[in-house]
Amino acid sequence: MNEPMNPASCPLKPWTVPAYNGADYAMVSYGTARNWIGGAFVDAADGQQQPVLNPRYGQTMGTVVLSGAADVAQAVLVANKALPGWRSTPMKDRSQILLKFRELLLRDLVELSWLLAAENGKTFGESKADIEKGIECLEYACSLPNIAEGGGLEVSRGVRCEVMYEPVGIVGCIVPFNFPVMVPMWMIPNALAAGNCVLVKPSETVPYGCLRLAALLAEAGLPTGVFQTINGTRAAVEALVDHPDVGAIGFVGSTRVAKLLYARGSALGKRMLCLGGAKNHVLVVPDADVALTAQNVVASSFGCAGQRCMASSLMVAVGPVQHIIDAMVVAAKNIQVGKDMGTIVSAEAVTRITRYIDEAERQGAKVLVDGRKVQVPGCEGGFWVGPTILDHVRPDMPAACDEIFGPVLSIVRVDTVDQGIAVQNANAYGNGAAIFTTSGAVARYASERLHAGMVGINIGVPVPREPFAFGGWGDSKFGHGDMTGWDGFRFWCKPKKITSKWALQADATWMS
Ligand code: NAD
Repeated sequence: MNEPMNPASCPLKPWTVPAYNGADYAMVSYGTARNWIGGAFVDAADGQQQPVLNPRYGQTMGTVVLSGAADVAQAVLVANKALPGWRSTPMKDRSQILLKFRELLLRDLVELSWLLAAENGKTFGESKADIEKGIECLEYACSLPNIAEGGGLEVSRGVRCEVMYEPVGIVGCIVPFNFPVMVPMWMIPNALAAGNCVLVKPSETVPYGCLRLAALLAEAGLPTGVFQTINGTRAAVEALVDHPDVGAIGFVGSTRVAKLLYARGSALGKRMLCLGGAKNHVLVVPDADVALTAQNVVASSFGCAGQRCMASSLMVAVGPVQHIIDAMVVAAKNIQVGKDMGTIVSAEAVTRITRYIDEAERQGAKVLVDGRKVQVPGCEGGFWVGPTILDHVRPDMPAACDEIFGPVLSIVRVDTVDQGIAVQNANAYGNGAAIFTTSGAVARYASERLHAGMVGINIGVPVPREPFAFGGWGDSKFGHGDMTGWDGFRFWCKPKKITSKWALQADATWMS
């Protein structure tokens, strides 16, 4: 086990990590993503590592260390030392460090965007948006000193009650591959602003985003041990969830793992909020604006190569909407894979996605746009699937029920809005849903009946912008409350109610 380096005795700034040298999509190596523990980048206790691939080329761009219980225990030891100082730092002072962190993210935005594009396979623009949305969440946390004052009231004569938000203590965040910065930033700033020491388990597929967040937080002046990262896979996650000193866990990833971890942590009496996968339905009715609908649905289904938990992956075509489907087919065929659209995350994911397309075709779906044989010159080893539109999918087919998590839009045809709502309501997930119409009455009718935590009206990716909070329903979320915004802040806090009386009251009752 590497002893955490003492930053004071370190000749170089311990947070120094090399700048990413890429300024386009060319293949560039980037070294090892180590754990950030105790103010230093360290190897995993047992020295294990695995490759990190650039999915555009299918080639190794570096390695990531694989941690276990010993690494988690070491990080928790350090966090326990840092916690008293951090939790007693006034929130206004904590937020000054977060403001500095924001400046540094903006300073390095372009370089970080190229790094994310390389590790995740998104386009540069999508990578930049990933970081910018993370910065928006950070700005919300920076504003907490202005809105998290708690509250107080004289509850009976001479008796005052007030609420204080205390940090949970040491908390964990476990994140997926598809947004290497935004998803961690849903949790990290709020948890830090609340006064917690935060341990993040980045996705082993895209570990560099969190590596750089650690370095920038340290550069911003965050005290040693307040923020740490533990890289790895299942062993690292389970050690984090199980550690008795870790009081709350925020998880974002697939439903299978969200469900498992929610049960595991809850059984240990921990506070758990676990966001899972999705199957987002978009209802399109005949009066919908053709250009707006085609542009938004296509952008939602194929942006980030369909690897967004808010991607619309099932379109319910209500009645005669062939003219809109025709416009969508044209828009989808115009997408240049490799330039407008990035890669799939792995070779295994390509196999999974193409299997769904093959199966749907065998079961009678009509392939209107086929992304199975897409070629990107110069990137032949990369993990590609182009935009795919499947028509006449039946609601009981796997392509209509499962989260495919790729650029595949299945179209189910129905005759009425009520039938469309019934198709949406029957799916187990409840992350996002949308309706495209020019009728306010239809929009209202549907949005009141769609079973989803986030509903769009003429918007294909109805992600709430801050201060509105992100969170789905059903199999898309296990736990209470939303992940960002005010709920997100409260998740990382323990409210304490203090009731006080300072003078003997002549007219005291049993309530005072
Ligand atoms: P994943 O569930 O495979 O992995 C997520 C995290 O869990 C990773 O850090 C991984 O190392 C860890 N993990 C994987 N298997 C584990 C196991 N058996 N035990 C413990 N930990 C384990 O998800 P992914 O493939 O990285 O991300 C894609 C999924 O995330 C999709 O299903 C997508 O919908 C979902 N997602 C959901 C949201 C949301 O807000 N609901 C947001 C982003 C992504």
